[in-house]
Amino acid sequence: MDGASFDTRQNLIGGSWRAAAGRETMPLLNPSDGQRLAEIARSGAEDIDAAVAAAKEARRGAWGKLTATERGRLLSTMGRLVLERVEELARMEALDVGKPLKQARADAVALARYLEFYGGAADKVHGDSIPYLDGYTVLSIYEPVGVTGHIVPWNYPMQIIGRSVTASLAMGNAVVIKPAEEACLTALAYARIAEEAGFPAGAINIVSGTGEEAGAALSAHPGINHISFTGSVLVGGLVQAAAARNAVPVTLELGGKSPQVVFDDADLDAALPFLVNAGIQNAGQTCSAASRILVQKGVHDRVLKAMAERYSALRVGTAMSDQDMGPLVSGRQLEIVQGYIDSARQDGLTVAAQGRIGEDAPSGGYYVPPTLVSGAQGSSRLAQEEIFGPVQVVIPFEDEAEALSIANGTDYGLVAGVWTADGSRAMRMARGIETGQVFVNNYGAGGGVELPFGGVKRSGHGREKGFEALYGFASLKTIAIRHG
Ligand code: NAD
Repeated sequence: MDGASFDTRQNLIGGSWRAAAGRETMPLLNPSDGQRLAEIARSGAEDIDAAVAAAKEARRGAWGKLTATERGRLLSTMGRLVLERVEELARMEALDVGKPLKQARADAVALARYLEFYGGAADKVHGDSIPYLDGYTVLSIYEPVGVTGHIVPWNYPMQIIGRSVTASLAMGNAVVIKPAEEACLTALAYARIAEEAGFPAGAINIVSGTGEEAGAALSAHPGINHISFTGSVLVGGLVQAAAARNAVPVTLELGGKSPQVVFDDADLDAALPFLVNAGIQNAGQTCSAASRILVQKGVHDRVLKAMAERYSALRVGTAMSDQDMGPLVSGRQLEIVQGYIDSARQDGLTVAAQGRIGEDAPSGGYYVPPTLVSGAQGSSRLAQEEIFGPVQVVIPFEDEAEALSIANGTDYGLVAGVWTADGSRAMRMARGIETGQVFVNNYGAGGGVELPFGGVKRSGHGREKGFEALYGFASLKTIAIRHG
């Protein structure tokens, strides 16, 4: 069964859909059954060259001549088209990534919201006038950087393209997108919907293929003016090193080992659904997954028991059967995550509870049970490494100082949650935690597109989402006029 209603084997370059220069294709597999879902272009350096040239041409031509308001209108139109197609896009994403349909539907709605938000923001980015010497007027003006490259992972194609590509387009840049080889149907659909909305040729170019071929060619391309990379720490480093040779700035949205910290005085009934959902959503393949649950000793056993009960009730099935959890994205991911689960017992930890894989889950799919692990220390391997699967580790702590030390005791710093009824403690924790986002008495705040997002430490640098993202895709020019 093909997941898309269009020819997925083509790239969009300069307004025309065409096969990769080498005419090679590669399969996309359906994680729910391991069967071939579609065929995509396997592109290389020649295709990336053509896409960058087309983007430059668009900047000089029709796209570059649009006013900010006109750009905003195109994005808003696109947002309305996405809203009309939520079901179609959700189905595509569910089949391609393996996530339950309801989660894919939420991603499609989020994409529409990004388009609406950045559509409205496009003509609201303005600079300043700067008091200076007598006889001078000095202005600072935000301009597009030119051509931006976007290297996208497979876990949330719609949301990640929504936040990075849309913000860059709002700023007036032309874009070249390299989606992930594991899942990219909705990335291709984004480009198709943009065409339908009336974007000029070359404003949006999309080139699919492997990271080593198309991704590396994009990172090393001297014609790119900014790269937005979302993915692993390892590849982020490669992309940054390649871009550095051309002095190209890079935004890195990388991995995480995010904690939720539960104090004795927390409202546990309110906390529980957030604790578990943030571990199993998209089968834990979420950069901001709360993979560590830190619990104060007074309520540790109660929280562990309540989480274990929820875990035991979790059901896993195909993406289209829309249960609590779907499969992992690939056989490779399954092997890695299963390895971590197996190592829990070897490391002396306890598997406190697991969800159940339904009997009707096809044997060729990449299914793993959601797994709750207890008995861990902050320094345990499972509490340090990003697993990128549905595995949560519960870690006890004594007091605020120890909670902070464990929370900050990994290489990562993406997101954190704090649960407490004590406002001063919440504030101290929020200020002390080394992450790009902290949520107090919630986790994720509903994923609002308005909220700037990004990491510190090995979780990356730069911010996407929110108004802030626009500045990441802009260049500030200072104009000093001497008029006497
Ligand atoms: P990955 O780094 O393997 O791949 C991401 C993208 O990079 C893909 O498009 C891939 O084709 C490309 N790529 C691979 N090798 C490349 C190379 N040598 N040069 C250029 N591009 C290359 O990551 P993944 O396994 O797809 O995604 C999982 C990781 O992404 C996790 O670590 C996760 O935490 C992270 N992630 C972070 C965020 C965030 O916003 N911080 C969001 C989603 C995922």
